[in-house]
Amino acid sequence: MCGIVAYAGPRDAVPIMLEGLARLEYRGYDSAGIAVVGRSGDLRVRKVKGRVARLADDLPARFKGSPAIGHTRWATHGEPSDANAHPHVSGSVAVVHNGIIENADELRAKLAGDGVEFASATDTEVLAHLIARAADDAGDLEGAVRRALTSLVGTYGIAVIDARRPERIVVARNGSPVVLGIGEREMFVASDLSALVRYTRQVVHLDDGELATVEAGGFRTSTLDARATAKSPSVIDWEPGQYDTGSYDHFLQKEIHEQPSAVRRALSGRLDTRFHTAHLGGLELDARQAREFRRVKIIGCGSAYYAGLMGAQLIEELARVPAGAEPASEFRYRNPVVEHDTLYIAVSQSGETYDTLAAVQELRRKGGRVLGVVNAVGSAIARECDGGVYLHAGPEISVASTKAFTSTAVVLALIALHLGRIHDLSPADGRRIADGLRALPEQIEEILAHEDHIAALARDLVRHPGMFFIGRVRGYPVAREGAQKLKEISYLHAEAYQASELKHGPLALVGPELPTVAVVPDDELFDKNVSTLGQVRARHGRVLAVAHRAGAVAENADDVIVVPKNQPELDPILLTIPLQILAYHAAVELGHDVDKPRNLAKSVTVE
Ligand code: GLU
Repeated sequence: MCGIVAYAGPRDAVPIMLEGLARLEYRGYDSAGIAVVGRSGDLRVRKVKGRVARLADDLPARFKGSPAIGHTRWATHGEPSDANAHPHVSGSVAVVHNGIIENADELRAKLAGDGVEFASATDTEVLAHLIARAADDAGDLEGAVRRALTSLVGTYGIAVIDARRPERIVVARNGSPVVLGIGEREMFVASDLSALVRYTRQVVHLDDGELATVEAGGFRTSTLDARATAKSPSVIDWEPGQYDTGSYDHFLQKEIHEQPSAVRRALSGRLDTRFHTAHLGGLELDARQAREFRRVKIIGCGSAYYAGLMGAQLIEELARVPAGAEPASEFRYRNPVVEHDTLYIAVSQSGETYDTLAAVQELRRKGGRVLGVVNAVGSAIARECDGGVYLHAGPEISVASTKAFTSTAVVLALIALHLGRIHDLSPADGRRIADGLRALPEQIEEILAHEDHIAALARDLVRHPGMFFIGRVRGYPVAREGAQKLKEISYLHAEAYQASELKHGPLALVGPELPTVAVVPDDELFDKNVSTLGQVRARHGRVLAVAHRAGAVAENADDVIVVPKNQPELDPILLTIPLQILAYHAAVELGHDVDKPRNLAKSVTVE
């Protein structure tokens, strides 16, 4: 969601802006723009509604210089349009902004009262005028930004240039990521590492409430009230090649196929063969502390929440500790009761999901103990938590999550195993689960080998306007995630129910036009699930079952996708994979922009 890039150094910044913005496209956006200080010290701005490629086509040959700031916008205030696209300009100052200024209306009214004329409907333009006015008074850009920010309420990642002070960029962060990239006598800025990896591996993550002045030769950071902060650079280990689709048609397909290796990485070095448990150094909890928790609460948004549902089930089963999951976006607004004997786990691929970050901050403020399960190393949530476990899934570019979902479920299974072995899970059961986890990558490969079969089913199913997804207990989070995937990228209506709930209402909708995708693991609920399929078919509903064997399932289903069997507790992880493939091929068949579905963004850094 929305992106920032900036550059200060001897090179022409414009190609760097275009390259960086293209790298940020996967996050989702509606318009793009660049401001650059030309060689003669003039401010040049170009911005358009639509794609970065359109912006590139629109640039005049003379559009060159340094420093520069660039932006991909995801509109929150004012429709997507050329005028509302960033950068926003006031005098010699240009600003790009990710986030939302909550008191923009009030500030706008005040500025308008002083005679300021607005060129856009955005909240961001208010900030441009505030900085320009303060720059006239303060004389230095950093002081002007600092002063302007004190009157703001809301979230922001910003980058600011002033053509009268062309040697520097001022950036600041509050709730929306800003990362500095250190080069050889040149500096880069971006809201996301993906825009930096081509140029540098040395990065500095700004913290909330921090501001930095960036020049070709280096940077200095401080708090908003001008106290200097000390930052040490970290080295990123992601390779630029990871940001290409390679031999696949889409990032989504590539990421679905990367799941065996992502799971291997999530498990690597974390299974203990002596005590049949999991080693998770980052938890920062010794056995005695871990035993004191009487409940576990997992929070996350979207697929992270559904992976959380899966994880809660695993924790309850393996550790026999009551566990539940809740959307972070709801949790933080219901004044949650934070108990000292509850262990909270925050889940986020990007580690920048605003709702989850805010929930973590609220939990920590109330003294709650929070672990992070996060993919992006050094991200805000990772830094904000008491401890945690990284997914090491590599960059996930496609908006719809697949490998991060699966890796999250695997990491939560490791946490469940760890807690289980501290409580009452026997060594034999510990070994059973550890062996099951080790078997996952190969079993995922087996499922991927059936992509053509699942693709054919998808092509057939998209003739229907929507689908039900049903599952029970362990199968229910699978159904939720399956429905979510289909909605996100195929735009077909999909709803998930507990199979047991069907006859309490939704069965009224079942008929020939509404197919049901049923998750039917070979577990103690098998017979009950099969009889639910019978009820659907009795209403002429078409059934696609994802199951461990055809047999009785095939008698009650139109089609069956057979998935290899693991341990019952871990089966949900495998049962989800065919549903990802189904959604992917449904979206391809319908001709949608698979990696950048409409209205959605990769990391949701606004509320
Ligand atoms: N709130 C700003 C706008 O609507 C920034 C949105 C973004 O994060 O891209 O222009």
